[in-house]
Amino acid sequence: MIPKDHPRYDSLMTREKITEGVEKGITGIMGLLAHGRGEAFDYLIGEKTTQSALQAEKTAAAMLLLAEKPVISINGNVAALVPEEIIELGKLTGAQLEVNIFYRTEERAEKITQHLRALGAEIICTKRDAAIPGLSHERGKVDSEGIFSADVVLVPLEDGDRCKALVDMGKTVITIDLNPLSRTAQTATITIADNITRAIPGISKFARVLKDKNKDELRAIIQEFDNKKNLSESIDGITAHLLHLTQQYRK
Ligand code: ATP
Ligand code: MG
Repeated sequence: MIPKDHPRYDSLMTREKITEGVEKGITGIMGLLAHGRGEAFDYLIGEKTTQSALQAEKTAAAMLLLAEKPVISINGNVAALVPEEIIELGKLTGAQLEVNIFYRTEERAEKITQHLRALGAEIICTKRDAAIPGLSHERGKVDSEGIFSADVVLVPLEDGDRCKALVDMGKTVITIDLNPLSRTAQTATITIADNITRAIPGISKFARVLKDKNKDELRAIIQEFDNKKNLSESIDGITAHLLHLTQQYRK
């Protein structure tokens, strides 16, 4: 048991969820490495949602609400860390869920699907009858009625290559990635440089407010957003946080 007053309680609990995911066969071993990379960047931004991430979360909510066919892609880390939150976001925005894992085994995909169903997910795209052009056979297989035909896809913690291949298909790709330097962060249409544990509830919060707005207001939010500028602000956020720390040490 991790004591609640431990200064790193949230971070340690998140680790517990990821290791439990591995034990249950939901999260892959490589997911642990990806999580460690994420944690390092979270430290660098001060383990908080920055202003630039908030802006990206608001824009992501507007995009999901305006989409004809939004789909949320779920991998082993996402299923371990925020399963209920993802299901809620899907319901709020009318987005379908699709299990889409990088180191795929049928057994793991099935476990993730069952895990989500047990938590209340109704529709999950499970077919693998279409291929994303430009990706090798196994990595490119998706559901023809899910990711393949989506106009807006939320792909948290995604691999750079697959993110680019989805953008090349003409889709609006929203990613959540704590590393603003990753290829995924650099190629997505919208990059939310925030921890997924904060970002998904953040998008849902905006979606609840924005769902009663008219379409022109949502379009205006999207038009105002510039991903390159937002990414540079995320990197500035790291620099500013480090500067703040070094100044404290020099006092
Ligand atoms: P890329 O392929 O995009 O160049 P990569 O190979 O480092 O980058 P992947 O393993 O493909 O990354 O994807 C995992 C990404 O998810 C990493 O950039 C990591 O920082 C990020 N990440 C891991 N855990 C979290 C988390 N909890 N919240 C947000 N991002 C996370
Ligand atoms: Mg990668």
